Amino acid sequence: MAQKPLKVLISGAGVAGSSLALMLARHPKLTTKPIVTLIERSPVPRTTGQAIDIRGPGVGVIRKIGLEEKIREKHTTEKGISILGRQGKEIARLDATGETDNQSFATSEYEVLRGELVQVLMDEIQLTKEASSSGNGVYTVYGEMIESLKQDDDGVMVNFANGKVDAQKFDMVIAADGMGSKTRSMIFTDKAYQSTECTASLGWYIGYFSAPRQEFDSDYWRWYHAPGGLCIHVRPHRNKQTVGVYLSVVNSERRRYPEYDEILAQGVEAQKALLRKRFQDIGWKTNHYLDEMDRADDFYMQQTAQVRTPKWTNGRSAIIGDAAHCTMGIGTSLAFMDAYIISGELSKMESNSSEEIAAALERYESVLRGYYEKNSKMPAGFPQLANPQTQTGVAVLHTVMKVMNVLKLDKLMQGAFDQDEKSWKLPEYGW
Ligand SMILES: Cc1cc2nc3c(=O)[nH]c(=O)nc-3n(C[C@H](O)[C@H](O)[C@H](O)COP(=O)(O)OP(=O)(O)OC[C@H]3O[C@@H](n4cnc5c(N)ncnc54)[C@H](O)[C@@H]3O)c2cc1C
Repeated sequence: MAQKPLKVLISGAGVAGSSLALMLARHPKLTTKPIVTLIERSPVPRTTGQAIDIRGPGVGVIRKIGLEEKIREKHTTEKGISILGRQGKEIARLDATGETDNQSFATSEYEVLRGELVQVLMDEIQLTKEASSSGNGVYTVYGEMIESLKQDDDGVMVNFANGKVDAQKFDMVIAADGMGSKTRSMIFTDKAYQSTECTASLGWYIGYFSAPRQEFDSDYWRWYHAPGGLCIHVRPHRNKQTVGVYLSVVNSERRRYPEYDEILAQGVEAQKALLRKRFQDIGWKTNHYLDEMDRADDFYMQQTAQVRTPKWTNGRSAIIGDAAHCTMGIGTSLAFMDAYIISGELSKMESNSSEEIAAALERYESVLRGYYEKNSKMPAGFPQLANPQTQTGVAVLHTVMKVMNVLKLDKLMQGAFDQDEKSWKLPEYGW
């Protein structure tokens, strides 16, 4: 008997949401293609953002779904890390290995700009549409968000905020709307899912933007530290016309800083003003990059934090990506793994009943939870130890980096970012 297509609503067209829409449209075992409504709060595709990487089982996912080469082609061309001392003189260099299955901790083989990665996913969704006379079942709507939702035995009734999508019932709702997800606390009414409760602050704020590449820029990821927990990072872009700049402020304690949160809420101009105040005249080329920040039109600032929630699924709804488990270093890999596992578990269903949907979503969590628990712990003292508050602290950090460099200790750290690929196997779903 032909099964009715599954009606799925995904909130958020970032890496997690777009890759889930793509995998649902292209899944080899989903013979009846789901009808996917992918909504994005931004009125236009958010194809901005600096370098993000894919590691461990995340690489396995892009390999299985046939995107490995297309993503590798977008590599930023970064060659490794270069630590700058006073006046910007290089004091240590950690080279990338360049080996696919032995990624160094410095730079991944799959180091790509977030915007370009999202664009690859959007292009692939479009290709699935062009490849089929009946379309791919994915409807992407920008400038829309969920206003309210209510689930019962035969679906999730959703009202939308901007009237671009009619109020209607879906078989399931997936929240992929990032660290500050608004949908999360609609799916789970418990206080534990509100952003203030489930977001563990690291006391760390970063402003990201692109700047025109200059002669003095390099193909290495350069770090310049200054007292006050400040570090300016400059990273190459593949296009060689621009570089990515990160202005990173780490406060002395892992906690929320209300004055920073207030500025984040005030918008881009206030955020740029705060960073200028903190970074002005700290040395090296910083003032040049501050001037470029003022001109940048892709500036983005966020708190770097960990999201941890007790559960990822509730009946016909689930949270994925940063909305479920924003995790430093493996966030993008987890986003791919979530999409791969959810689409795979849905492909095993024999009917679209409430019980089967809830069970498939539950399996997504049970397959991934153990891996996540093992790989989401932050090293003790991080990020404060790596971003000292005093000149002496910066000098000690530099000495440690020099020793690492001389003794090639970074090579010993290879595998630390390998994320358990050998002991945890990606399930097979027929790709
Ligand atoms: C513009 C931008 C730039 C980024 N730049 C970097 C970077 O330089 N380096 C880095 O390490 N990480 C960056 N990130 C975060 C990184 O993309 C994620 O940590 C990771 O890829 C996991 O992706 P995600 O899809 O879960 O979340 P995200 O990539 O954050 O995507 C969430 C999406 O949901 C949308 N959204 C938010 N609220 C709603 C809502 N209520 N309704 C509908 N849609 C909503 C957002 O606009 C966004 O498109 C950036 C994120 C964004 C949005």
